[in-house]
Amino acid sequence: MAAVDNSANPQRRLVLLGGGHAHVHVLQDLARQPIPDFAVTMITPFARQMYSGMVPGLVAGHYTADQASIALPPLAQAAGVTMLQDAAVGLDAGACDLQLQSGGRVSYDLLSIDTGAVMRRDEPPGADEHALFVRPIEHFVQGLDTLLTRESQGGEPLDIVVVGGGAAGVELAMALQHRMRQAAPRPGQNGSRVALLTGGEAPLAGYPAEVMQRAADTLKDQHIAVFLDTCIEVRVGHLMLGSGARLACDTAVLATGAQSPTWLQGSGLALDGRGFVQTGATLQSRSHANVFAVGDVSSRVDVQHPRSGVYAVRAGPPLVANLRLWVAGQSLKAHTPQQRTLNLISCGQRSAIVSWGNWSAQGRWAWWWKDHIDRAFIKRYSRAMPLSTQPA
Ligand SMILES: Cc1cc2nc3c(=O)[nH]c(=O)nc-3n(C[C@H](O)[C@H](O)[C@H](O)COP(=O)(O)OP(=O)(O)OC[C@H]3O[C@@H](n4cnc5c(N)ncnc54)[C@H](O)[C@@H]3O)c2cc1C
Repeated sequence: MAAVDNSANPQRRLVLLGGGHAHVHVLQDLARQPIPDFAVTMITPFARQMYSGMVPGLVAGHYTADQASIALPPLAQAAGVTMLQDAAVGLDAGACDLQLQSGGRVSYDLLSIDTGAVMRRDEPPGADEHALFVRPIEHFVQGLDTLLTRESQGGEPLDIVVVGGGAAGVELAMALQHRMRQAAPRPGQNGSRVALLTGGEAPLAGYPAEVMQRAADTLKDQHIAVFLDTCIEVRVGHLMLGSGARLACDTAVLATGAQSPTWLQGSGLALDGRGFVQTGATLQSRSHANVFAVGDVSSRVDVQHPRSGVYAVRAGPPLVANLRLWVAGQSLKAHTPQQRTLNLISCGQRSAIVSWGNWSAQGRWAWWWKDHIDRAFIKRYSRAMPLSTQPA
């Protein structure tokens, strides 16, 4: 895409929409070196960014919410970025105008979107009223906290069904089982049960066969019943399954796939068939050169990769580099996402499965490795450098 001379106009506006994994890096980078003559605003609904990789550990009781999240206001303050706790509900990319949930509007010269994916709340029927959705993660964490506090304070035993056989569903089922067992007066004696409903395929479908086997064996060892069936309705006390059976359930935790936000429809931005923002190698929108999009909300037209936190995190440095180049009117650089990622799947009991390509292993050491990587990530963004301490 051709470079535009954007360097002459003072005090233009860069809006960072969403406090996602790539944008925390942008904030930290701006704290080191502000963009001259640009007023930067971050718009995001929550004051902290939950680090999804640590959410299963939070559910298992290994971390507190503070240990598993990045506080955004200190990062924004250090970067000289104005933070608005709000959310986009509409976008007119042609007019460079964002509509916010509060009723306000914000216009921009340059927009960067890192708002993640969403889950449709009307699927399956009854879910909106009776289920806990894993996204937004902030709401999930609060909802689960209420539920587990009730359970640990001597409430009735719970039948929890985690719906979704991907990595998030498998990790959450094992984390919940661990948490319930720990909370019991004697391990395993409180009568609460966790089951996993996969949607039809075996748990971790799409992973190498050895990893799937490890997951199946571990779920069995932990007495987590696995149902290869779909949930077609959530009702009080049970789930209706595609096979016609009913599955007893006090709380359904929905860890089903990621969907695109509806507010992108009608924005004028080029979207893929599923409604995600189409971008190219420079992370720019295919239709609007002053809009960048990264992470789960985006869809690269030139390369395909899974929607995962790893890719969102890795997009941070090339994103901020290209925002700076755009501002300076210079040619942007292509970002090539890595082809494989290290997968660390936590198994609840401070144990994890690790996989790289077709190689895999499992053990407590893998959990400690994951723990080290995750804590280092949080630590990196918990030390924002204030503007006053920047080198001249
Ligand atoms: C339980 C669970 C465990 C997971 N574990 C892993 C893992 O171990 N490894 C891994 O790689 N991936 C994991 N994932 C996937 C990972 O969470 C996502 O791929 C990752 O969060 C995507 O990052 P992102 O920056 O695109 O978006 P997000 O992390 O979703 O961040 C989006 C940000 O935008 C804000 N926002 C949302 N809507 C709006 C709006 N309308 N306006 C303004 N701001 C908005 C949000 O509040 C948030 O701050 C897991 C997911 C779940 C649910």
